[in-house]
Amino acid sequence: MLTRQQEALPLQPVVLERDQHGISRRQISENALKVLYRLNKSGFEAYLVGGGVRDLLLGRQPKDFDIATSATPEQVKQLFSNSRLVGRRFRLAHILFGRDIIEVATFRGHHHQVNNSKDMSSQSSQGMLLRDNVYGTIEEDAERRDFSVNALYYNIADFSVVGFSNGLADLEARRLELIGDPETRYREDPVRMIRAVRFAAKLGLTISPRTEAPIRELAPLLSDIPAARLFEETLKLLLAGYGLETYRTLQHYGLFAPLFPEAAEVIGQGDNNYGRFLELALTNTDERIAQDMRVTPAFLYAALLWGPVEIRTQQFMHEGGLSYYDAFMMAMDEVLGRQVKSVAIPRRFSSVVRDIWMLQDRLTRRSGKRPHRLLEHPKFRAGYDFLLLRAELNPQLKELAEWWTEFQLANPVDRQQLSRHAQARHNQFGDESSKPRKRPRRRPRKKKEV
Ligand code: ATP
Ligand code: MG
Repeated sequence: MLTRQQEALPLQPVVLERDQHGISRRQISENALKVLYRLNKSGFEAYLVGGGVRDLLLGRQPKDFDIATSATPEQVKQLFSNSRLVGRRFRLAHILFGRDIIEVATFRGHHHQVNNSKDMSSQSSQGMLLRDNVYGTIEEDAERRDFSVNALYYNIADFSVVGFSNGLADLEARRLELIGDPETRYREDPVRMIRAVRFAAKLGLTISPRTEAPIRELAPLLSDIPAARLFEETLKLLLAGYGLETYRTLQHYGLFAPLFPEAAEVIGQGDNNYGRFLELALTNTDERIAQDMRVTPAFLYAALLWGPVEIRTQQFMHEGGLSYYDAFMMAMDEVLGRQVKSVAIPRRFSSVVRDIWMLQDRLTRRSGKRPHRLLEHPKFRAGYDFLLLRAELNPQLKELAEWWTEFQLANPVDRQQLSRHAQARHNQFGDESSKPRKRPRRRPRKKKEV
């Protein structure tokens, strides 16, 4: 454990020489190496930094390789014709190699001199550029990073690894430790709270007591983060292969509710199956990722918000006297409209979320040409997968789900047969869905859950 005094001081860097760590250049992408070498040859300091180094030390394949350098963005731009400068809050150079992009950031410095107002034009005299673009030394750069295990640098000059703030020891101990005073750092950027949960779940790290202590109390600060940024973060949270574990940890720290208020409320009521349904959807997503199968954020959002949509539909029907169809349409609009205030859902995904939801009703209609036509629906597969998931918790849907499985596998003749059976079966049980519908349904349906 660190003493109070040590905590306050920037910890001395620890250097692992090239023969003291397992990172070899073969594990680093060719493009990242090219950039590192060119910077170094041009007289700048150049390091692989952050997640790339951390993951290599853990024996994992990094998602991407980020570079930190003493060169300013303009100097980087001059060195690489295939580069462009991006970012307003913090200027970065992107070096483009076809579809591969290597991100190069200049060492960030402290900006105590900058006035703390949101005045974007603030500028100071020394080495400081517009906005957040204060450049500094590698030590300062390390201090501004979030967790100690992310303050690790691989030096291309001598192939050593430099760890700041006890990062190497923390990584060894599988400990997630925020750099600096946790409360201050979370207030500076509340997204760090969900990053803590993400790294803990993904890398199997334990969040240290001082790093976890303020989270529950500060969790509501997430409501102030722009919804678009949170969309990107939640993708990394829930669609990285550790969704279930991440979700449970978010709930544990009170971080789920500020991200998904309506889902949290419905799940928190505890008298329904929606919490289990979401866990099932996350398990399913994790399994797909483990098998290298495609996953879409739309499916997960559909599952997250299915509870609120069903409950609102019932309320609109019973309190507002609306038909099932109208109530369902209004519920979808309302639930999505509220959700995008906390975590945005880009239109290209929200339209698929709607498709998946609307298919749930259409999948109950199995007579005549309908099921044949439905197979052609561009989102049929996602709608059907969603039905399968619902059927796992709702025995009443089992027969329907199995019927669709069979129907897809059947040849055209057998399909006719199946569709006739479905019709006969429904007539026998008086299921209205088998009758041709001239107008949108006006009759309320029985309350259904999941
Ligand atoms: P991943 O494997 O998910 O990419 P990563 O650690 O590389 O993990 P990134 O989001 O790619 O995470 O960020 C790169 C680096 O930038 C981090 O390792 C960290 O040092 C720093 N960083 C990112 N976000 C923050 C933040 N909100 N506050 C401080 N430092 C941050
Ligand atoms: Mg990264």
